[in-house]
Amino acid sequence: MSQYDIAIIGGGILGASISNWISSLYDLSLCVIEKEPNVAMHASSRNTGVVHSPFYLDPKSKKILAKSALISYDMWKTLAKERQVPWRQTGVLELALDDNQHKSLEEYVKWGYENGIPSEDLELLDGKDVSKLEPNIQCYSAIFCKREVSSDYGAFTNAIKQESEKQGTKFHFNKNVKSIERHGNGSSIFFDDGTSISAKFVINCAGGNSLDVAQMLGLATEFSDLHFRGEYWVADAKYKDLVKTTIYTVAEFKGYPFLDPHWIKKANGQTEIGPNAVPVLSPETYEGFIGDFETSILKLKDVITGNAKKLFLDSEFLSLISKEWLSSVSKTAMIRRVQKFIPKVQPEFFSKKGTSGIRSPIITPKGKFLLDVMELEDEYSFNIINYNSPGATGAPAYSAFIVKKLQEKGILDYKENPKTSFWNFDYVINQA
Ligand SMILES: Cc1cc2nc3c(=O)[nH]c(=O)nc-3n(C[C@H](O)[C@H](O)[C@H](O)COP(=O)(O)OP(=O)(O)OC[C@H]3O[C@@H](n4cnc5c(N)ncnc54)[C@H](O)[C@@H]3O)c2cc1C
Repeated sequence: MSQYDIAIIGGGILGASISNWISSLYDLSLCVIEKEPNVAMHASSRNTGVVHSPFYLDPKSKKILAKSALISYDMWKTLAKERQVPWRQTGVLELALDDNQHKSLEEYVKWGYENGIPSEDLELLDGKDVSKLEPNIQCYSAIFCKREVSSDYGAFTNAIKQESEKQGTKFHFNKNVKSIERHGNGSSIFFDDGTSISAKFVINCAGGNSLDVAQMLGLATEFSDLHFRGEYWVADAKYKDLVKTTIYTVAEFKGYPFLDPHWIKKANGQTEIGPNAVPVLSPETYEGFIGDFETSILKLKDVITGNAKKLFLDSEFLSLISKEWLSSVSKTAMIRRVQKFIPKVQPEFFSKKGTSGIRSPIITPKGKFLLDVMELEDEYSFNIINYNSPGATGAPAYSAFIVKKLQEKGILDYKENPKTSFWNFDYVINQA
């Protein structure tokens, strides 16, 4: 059985970034365990690909995610240049469709400044100003943020993995963690192919399975999760420039982690709309339907456990997911949601589906969506759960903050051996 000082479970953008920081600072035996044949085969590649500016994040309740996103922006820019990852500065218009949503935008502008976005990058426009910029948009008002970029997080994760490997991290692919057992000096991690490894400390970055992994360690047993597939449609080349800027709208339901579909200018030059948020049975159900709405809800009720069941008694939640479900079975229903702000858009402008991705929000013991990241630890492990959007944007800085926490707890008591890399740990920590 191989023995490691630290084992990171999950080779997504978060696990790869944490491995990169630790291996750039210390001499120790470190591995990343990934059940797929490569890094970033799930959420870290299957996402909208936007490097967000955190104007829409409340600086009080979402401080860490907002700070991480702000600091990470320049880090991604540097890496994109160094490793030839696409970096397309699209800008974003966040639209209000009525006076009520406009009040949210006024609040977002204040949040944006508080979160550190330079004032010249954030502008509040009325509907007429927006029409001058984008004649095909219809709205009450909008925030225009120049500092919004489309990129490729899968390519970024692969670049980080290469750097981490160069610094000594061992990546174990095709290793699906089935169970974890504690022993005197750490944990034994068992895989479904019958093999195992041992580690003094485990960092759980298993994305859509991170709650399951924490529960293998006896943690977070009172929490549950649900899985929502986000689907996209690609605009035919003829229509892709109907609107030149990336478009988001103010969230209608603030207690839920979903937005209406966006109009996304992708890094590869295409335009897509999406994602919706269709409830599915597992964190990897990327395709296929599970019957009509009533049947699909019944099936979900069968597989979900604990507190998530309470949500199915909530009429607002049911009406929200029935709308999402409809936009999955019917392209026209999805396009109708976009027509609210781009009236010219038609279903026949979209003939190809984009790559779907799955969000796995955590449900609290009270049956509510947990709206922030959850960090859970014990003597032998650190678990990062509910690491959702803008998680990809904030990964470089957020992972450095995690490493700093581990240093302060004495978990990283190894021989220091700082290596020069594309990012600098002290620079990130000093900005926090
Ligand atoms: C539809 C969608 C759109 C999004 N859009 C954006 C966006 O535009 N901008 C943005 O900043 N963020 C966005 N996000 C959020 C962002 O993609 C995630 O926050 C981020 O990718 C999470 O990274 P991760 O490493 O935690 O998870 P993942 O990338 O899912 O990585 C977890 C890894 O753990 C592995 N794993 C799981 N279980 C096991 C096991 N038992 N054994 C071994 N390995 C295991 C998985 O195979 C996976 O590779 C979006 C997410 C989705 C789903």
